[in-house]
Amino acid sequence: MSEQYDVVIVGAGNAAFCAALSARESGARVLVLERAPEDVSGGNSRFTAGLMRVAYRGVDDLKRVIPDLSADEIANSDFGVYTEEQFLDDLARVTENRCDPDLAELLVKRSLDTVAWMNAKGVRFTAAWGRQAFNIGGRFKFWGGLTVEAVGGGPGLVQNLTVAAKKHGIDVWYHARAMALLHDDDGIQGVRVKRDGRTIEVAAKAVVLAAGGFQANPEWRTRYLGPGWELAKVRGTRFNTGDGIRMALDAGAAAAGNWSGCHAVAWERNAPEFGDLVVGDQYQKHSYPWGIYLNAEGKRFLDEGADFRNYTYAKYGRVILQQPGQFAWQVFDAKVKSQLRDEYRIKQVTKVVANTLEELVAKLDDVNAAVALEEIKAYNAAVRSDVPFNPNIKDGRCTTGLAINKSNWANTLDTPPFEAYAVTCGITFSFGGLRINTDAQVMSSDGEPIAGLFAAGELVGGIFWFNYPGGSGLTNGAVFGRIAGASAAKAAISAG
Ligand SMILES: Cc1cc2nc3c(=O)[nH]c(=O)nc-3n(C[C@H](O)[C@H](O)[C@H](O)COP(=O)(O)OP(=O)(O)OC[C@H]3O[C@@H](n4cnc5c(N)ncnc54)[C@H](O)[C@@H]3O)c2cc1C
Repeated sequence: MSEQYDVVIVGAGNAAFCAALSARESGARVLVLERAPEDVSGGNSRFTAGLMRVAYRGVDDLKRVIPDLSADEIANSDFGVYTEEQFLDDLARVTENRCDPDLAELLVKRSLDTVAWMNAKGVRFTAAWGRQAFNIGGRFKFWGGLTVEAVGGGPGLVQNLTVAAKKHGIDVWYHARAMALLHDDDGIQGVRVKRDGRTIEVAAKAVVLAAGGFQANPEWRTRYLGPGWELAKVRGTRFNTGDGIRMALDAGAAAAGNWSGCHAVAWERNAPEFGDLVVGDQYQKHSYPWGIYLNAEGKRFLDEGADFRNYTYAKYGRVILQQPGQFAWQVFDAKVKSQLRDEYRIKQVTKVVANTLEELVAKLDDVNAAVALEEIKAYNAAVRSDVPFNPNIKDGRCTTGLAINKSNWANTLDTPPFEAYAVTCGITFSFGGLRINTDAQVMSSDGEPIAGLFAAGELVGGIFWFNYPGGSGLTNGAVFGRIAGASAAKAAISAG
């Protein structure tokens, strides 16, 4: 073996760096392996807005994570509370009570403390005034349990984690793809790595897998998520092709979780096959609660106002993929234009504008215009206009009598100019993965921990099913990354 470390971490995203920092803090000599070249490194974590879901009981808890919250900011904001019970309820509700109870409880109970720990390591956070709060009478009211974001979004998060790792003496190899785990009857002994095109073996007393899901692998998508999934666009990195999962399964690991499920959203119809770091997450189109969807047949096909966006966006990508031609249009009128998120104002959008509904439907590419016009008129007639519109709460302003009603925020489409945006399905990450225990040890298919093998982040199965509460992915990677790093260091040090 050409190199020897206590702990090798596979991946260089949020979960990996949290694991590396935690293992180092516990006294281990640590190597991070990143498959991507440095300029496109950082995994999906780098594509994010850096939003992290944490349980907090008020401003004092938030100040543990955002120590530089000013008195003015506090006075001008209504942060509310997001209790551990609420976070657990949200997880249980959106996963239809499938989430592993022990892992879910750890995720929730360690969320605040872990993000505060990241802050102590040098990752800066702020409050998500831009995306998660509405200005009501000059005061920002937060909604949806998602209050904390990394300064600089995903790129800032990865940069700060990388700086922290290097400062703490952690080695990082870029363009170094883990190919296989070296293992024998005593457990994991190291990793076979292709570094700059050369295959070498690195000895390790423990390995943490944090190499992401399989969403960037069209063959696995089709195999596990089902036919048609090869047609989805990948929102993030092209390097998460299931390597970590495959290596662990080859070493006897157990599969867990929702292998046919994934996080997938409305995404610009003409976006490239994989994410683009310049555009980041801005191909997403998340303002559908203020408008309606139309498919190729000119029909609405889901309840745009079923819940706050944070609790529906991750499952609606799948519904769009199921539509004829795998696309849909989001339609808005001028009344809600100022409420559309910043991602609607980038230049890489497929957008049409019109002064009449007749003109609008004629401009919607690949849509049955006559049916679309009737659909919009029927929708307008069904809106309960007597209920006031309030974006800050589930306002109950609904439609009645339609085949698919809209439950909240139902505004009539009657004020020109009208705008429509074409979207398809963008896959974020796969839900199925490896089974771990509460020490983040990877479990074998015989039900025992595999000695020396740990995992964290996207490639862990069992936590997210069917759907996902926004901002839980980074928190999940951080909480279990930190646990995995500490457990791996302990295992390495006790191995001598
Ligand atoms: C556009 C977008 C926006 C998002 N926004 C948010 C958000 O605001 N908040 C939130 O919580 N979540 C968000 N998510 C989800 C979030 O990105 C993931 O849940 C989280 O980043 C996963 O972290 P991870 O460390 O497990 O994986 P990643 O960050 O993807 O890291 C995996 C790493 O493994 C590396 N790798 C893969 N194979 C190998 C190999 N064989 N050898 C070595 N390295 C390998 C990859 O190159 C990568 O560095 C978003 C995702 C996308 C795509």
